[in-house]
Amino acid sequence: MIEAPADVLVVGLGPAGAGLAIRLARAGLRVTAIDRAVFPRDKICSEFLNPETVRQLDLLGATEPLRAVAVPLHGARVFGPRGHALTGLFGEAPGTRHEPGISVPRRLLDQILMELARAAGVRIIEDCRLTDLIREDGRIVGGLVARGQATETIRARVTIGADGLHSVAARLLGGRLREPLRRYGFVAHVADVPDVGFTAEMHVGRGLYVGLNTIGPGLTNVAVVASRATLAAAGGDPTRFWAEALDRFPAVRGRVRADRIVRPVLTTGPFATRSRHLVSNGALLIGDAAGFFDPFTGEGVCTALREAEMAAPVVVEALAATRTPTAEQLDRYRLLRRRAFAGKWAVERLIGYGMLAPALFDRAVGRLERRGMGHTLIGVTGEIVPARAVLNAGFLMAMVV
Ligand SMILES: Cc1cc2nc3c(=O)[nH]c(=O)nc-3n(C[C@H](O)[C@H](O)[C@H](O)COP(=O)(O)OP(=O)(O)OC[C@H]3O[C@@H](n4cnc5c(N)ncnc54)[C@H](O)[C@@H]3O)c2cc1C
Repeated sequence: MIEAPADVLVVGLGPAGAGLAIRLARAGLRVTAIDRAVFPRDKICSEFLNPETVRQLDLLGATEPLRAVAVPLHGARVFGPRGHALTGLFGEAPGTRHEPGISVPRRLLDQILMELARAAGVRIIEDCRLTDLIREDGRIVGGLVARGQATETIRARVTIGADGLHSVAARLLGGRLREPLRRYGFVAHVADVPDVGFTAEMHVGRGLYVGLNTIGPGLTNVAVVASRATLAAAGGDPTRFWAEALDRFPAVRGRVRADRIVRPVLTTGPFATRSRHLVSNGALLIGDAAGFFDPFTGEGVCTALREAEMAAPVVVEALAATRTPTAEQLDRYRLLRRRAFAGKWAVERLIGYGMLAPALFDRAVGRLERRGMGHTLIGVTGEIVPARAVLNAGFLMAMVV
């Protein structure tokens, strides 16, 4: 039995959980954070961090440790299914001069965030998995956790579900809603891929896309994201599927060599999914546990960190006012999140569902490139330009006419 009279129990120490744990501990709360993994651990991701992510990491104090391990990221070049290409550079996005993003292996990034949380005073328990929530008088008052063979309880005034795409907390708090898009990710690290600079490549095909992103000297993150139907047709072995998927793209074929794989293929899915209840009496969900659509726009880490930024003051204020906050007291986080992300969600879906029509998608890529509008689009997905720069009649017409 762990005696842990915490103010806050954070379940999951990815960017969402670590970001929130750091903020709450710095605000003077007693925070216990658990993760089923032992750090450093890998996380399937394209490791493309947009400029707003860099700003968020700076706010947390992660800039200095990241300097030694991150490489710059100038933007992305999208190759349509029929030969058109679109370049979007953060530095060319409308508005004031924008700094680039960065790329860094998640194994390093998440370790840095976890260490910052520890330094902020968070009590961290690794190899500790949430299995159930403790409910008393209609409120969540902590979690039941598995540590090796033992089951223990950790009590807290607020419990934060930050346990990712397959969140146990979200399932226990009312379940997940699935969107029609059902995609799966396959990601490896590969050495010596020629001609990959500091602008990521996205190659879109029928039923799948491929991303190449430099994450260190001579090291490339090679991601394949495929629809359920594409996957079903392939069957079996993920590494073989990943390699065969790369071969379908003439601009990628031959550049990624199986004998240069440094970190084997990791897989996840399906996405897209979101949680039915973001806030409950005594509990709140952030990051992928709250919802995740599709990795194409490379925004998940940014969203996780921004949600942590939004949730922190709500939790601090609620705990100052009461012993165990009600869903109503935590609801401001849900409203802030919706206000901040509604535009971005629409743009993500425009792109994510747009890929289902390869000819149209390719034409839009060509038209936007001719008009130099790729910089605006990446500025929006990079969260340095407001979504309304894309969600307006002029921009949308430019894609199709
Ligand atoms: C293929 C792919 C590519 C992506 N590429 C990018 C990209 O380039 N850029 C970008 O910004 N985003 C990208 N994303 C999205 C990004 O990875 C996520 O949005 C981000 O990691 C969300 O952070 P999180 O903290 O919510 O969850 P996670 O990072 O998943 O962290 C959750 C943590 O919870 C722990 N956990 C899980 N279950 C339990 C449990 N029961 N008990 C205790 N701990 C638990 C896990 O061990 C983990 O450490 C990509 C996603 C995919 C699938």
